[in-house]
Formats: sequence, structure tokens, C-alpha cells
Amino acid sequence: MENGMNLKQEVEKRKEDLIRDTKSLLAIRSVLEEDEDGTPEAPFGKGIQEALEFMLELGEKDGFTVKNVDNYAAHIEMGQGDEIVGILCHLDVVPEGDGWSSDPYAAEIRDGRIYARGALDDKGPTMTAYYAMKMIKELNLPLNKRVRMILGTDEETQWRCVDHYFEKEEMPSLGFAPDADFPIIYAEKGIWDMQLTQKSENTSENAEINVLEFASGRRLNMVPDYAVAKVQTGSFKEMQRAFETFLQKHELKGKIQEGTDAFVLEIDGVSAHGAEPDNGVNAGLYLAAFLSGLNLSEQAKRYFTFLHDHFFGDSRGRKLGMDSSDDITGDLTINVGTMKYTKEKGGKAGLNFRYPVSYNYEQGSRAMETKVAEAGFELTTVSHNASHHIDADSFLIQTLKKVYEEETGDKAELIAIGGGTYARSLKQGVAFGPLFPGREERAHQFDEFIEIEDMLKAAVIYAKAILELAK
Ligand SMILES: [Zn+2]
Repeated sequence: MENGMNLKQEVEKRKEDLIRDTKSLLAIRSVLEEDEDGTPEAPFGKGIQEALEFMLELGEKDGFTVKNVDNYAAHIEMGQGDEIVGILCHLDVVPEGDGWSSDPYAAEIRDGRIYARGALDDKGPTMTAYYAMKMIKELNLPLNKRVRMILGTDEETQWRCVDHYFEKEEMPSLGFAPDADFPIIYAEKGIWDMQLTQKSENTSENAEINVLEFASGRRLNMVPDYAVAKVQTGSFKEMQRAFETFLQKHELKGKIQEGTDAFVLEIDGVSAHGAEPDNGVNAGLYLAAFLSGLNLSEQAKRYFTFLHDHFFGDSRGRKLGMDSSDDITGDLTINVGTMKYTKEKGGKAGLNFRYPVSYNYEQGSRAMETKVAEAGFELTTVSHNASHHIDADSFLIQTLKKVYEEETGDKAELIAIGGGTYARSLKQGVAFGPLFPGREERAHQFDEFIEIEDMLKAAVIYAKAILELAK
């Protein structure tokens, strides 16, 4: 504790510098510029490049060893030894969006908070961890390993930064990412995104009721909050009655209207993150369920029945026979994030599949392919990120647990999540802060902020963690 007390004072002494450097870093609009893709001097655009250079200059000025890895990523290092303790951060931010109370790059301080895009995700935490390193360096505290802050620049999009970095550079033997929540996120589900495409059939066929178009959702990892279909049928009255009864029965908002060439059916749902589809109301699956009950053409009937029979009212893969669960990460979840059908081209569905750490992906993916093929669909994998799990008894977890508990007085419960954090790019990595339990989180939203008090607290925790991990 003696050490901890001193560190607290040492952080306090550096408070104004920490705030100043954080503000300077936040002032840079480090948003990915897709159009400028490809210049070797700035592979992700000028803003991100500027942020990377800012950190490297700062590191150099403070006497660290710095290395720029082809402008994709960089590191700031101190200490000596065979092993590396990694601290994985990122400098890119998502676009600011609307609704801000102050300029998102002015980093205004109000009520002890710094408000800016990237304040919490992840430039504020990056600077906090940087100051933890700087303090250890200035105080000449003993390290038996190298301590390396790795600065990524493409975390918010495709992780091309760390992919490239680890092709060229050594993987730290263990480490943490200050890019999520305290206490410790030690397990993350596997994430498998896929596109299902209906095999083409007779598209010219006409039935009593024809679905010309149906669409819902834009992103695989979001629950669609809106669905629309254009339907041709002889009797509006009948369709209207059936649809309104359906809406009432399921307590849904929606409407049916006469369009130019067809009736337009709409349903409003509730959006939620794809990691827990049950927190939302999937508008697309509801509309599909309604349509599946009509006298449709063979092709349309197959598509809507497929959605209804396998996914409607079940986000756990039970109806599909793909369910799986374990004590660490809980249930396998399936979010049907995008749905599209046209009379000419048939149907498509985009799925975000999240499986527990004990799941056998090889077996599961083969079973899934077989199942959808039986229903007349072809499966294409959009992306796959294997699950990530660090043993609770490992040196890494035990050390971080001890440090967190000593510093906060709270128990460091291990957290398992369905989402993916940056920590999974480290083989032995966990997400460790900076958001304390109970704090409001506004990453990716307007008025994103970080509490200055929390930064100071986290700086002490990070410094102690580095010292313990690098012993
Ligand atoms: Zn982040």
C-alpha cells in the first residue's frame, strides 16, 4: 500500500500535464478517411496520422524508445528484459455525429469531466496509461521486463493496424487493453458474421399474394428497428384486417397503406446491440412472421417460413438446433441483423452469431451450413473472430485482480461478455478499465466524456499493474 500511496501523490503532481496532453490529443480529429485509403504516409487518413505522430513525438520527448510500424501502428517502450508487457490502445475514433453540447474536439471541461469524441474511447485512457508509464520512468521504478504501449489506428473499423503490427513485431507475453470496463474482462464470445442467400428458384411464378420487396436492418450487429414490405393482393380490406390483428396481438407499432403498385406494410421494432438480441424487438422477424402466414409463391413462402421457423422469438438458436451454453460466457446468441427479399432475386439474411468460449466452432459451422442448405440457402462467412478466454488462475488475472482490489477496495469480479474488445488481439490479454462500475458510458455517442477523477484513479491502477506484471 505504501507504494500505492506514493503513486497517488505522484499522479496528482502530474494532473495538469495529463489534462493538457489529453486535450491536445483529443483536439485531433482522428476519424478514418476511407477515400484517402492507401497512401503509405497516412494509410487511414491525415487525422489518424496526426494523432499517431503526436504520440510518437511525446514519447520521444519523454525519453521512451518509439517505433512507427509503417504508419499502421506504433509503439512506445521502456525497460529491459526478454518479455514484453503490452498495453494496447487505439487512437482512431468514430465520427462525432450530432447532438453535442460543445465542440467534440474542443475537449471542454465541465463538472470535472472532459467532453470530446474519443475522451473515453480510447484517447483519454491511452493518455492515462501513457502517464502511468511516464511516472514509472521518471521515478526510476524497477522493471524486469520491457513495457510497451502499442498504438493502433484502425480499431473502430477493421483492425488492419494490429494485424499489420503483429505481422512485423513481437507479440507481448501478456498485457491489457485500457479500452473497456473495470474490473477485468477475461472472456469474450466468438463472433461469426454470415450471409445466407436463398438459392434461386422460379421467380416468375405468381401467387394469390405477391411480396415484391421486403427489407429490414442495416447492420449485422444491431437488432433491426424497422421493416417494410411491398405486397400485391386482390383485397386490401382483408390484408388490412389481418395485419392490424397481428400488430395488436404482438403489441407492435406499424401501419399498412396503399401505394402506387402495391400495399406497403411497415413495422417498428426496438434497436439493440446484437450481442443481446432479447434487449430489442426485431421488426424484420415480426414482419417475416406475418408474411409467412399468407398464401405466397413457393419461393417467398420458403424464405419467410425459414425466418419464422428458425429465428422468430428465439435468439438462442434453439429452433435451429444450434443452441449451446457454458458457465463462463453463457448462451450462444443469434441476431438476424439484415433481411432482404425481392421477387426477382429471392431472399437474403445476415446473421451475427456469438458463441460461448467452450463452443467447437469447426463442428458448429459445418452443422450450420448443413442446416441452412436443407432449407435452400447458401452460407457465406463475412467474418469470424474466435472466442477469447484467459484462465482465471493465470498470473495476468491474479495480478490485475490484486492491484484493482487493493486500489479500489472493491472485489474484482471477472466479466465475460458477448462483444469483442481490443484485448483479443493479444494472445494473453484482457480488457482492464478505464470505466469504473456504475459510471455512465457514452462511447460512440454525443457528449462522450471521461471523469478526470477516474483518470487519476486509473493512472495509479495502471502504474501498479505495470510494476507488478513487469516484476
Ligand atoms: Zn475503443
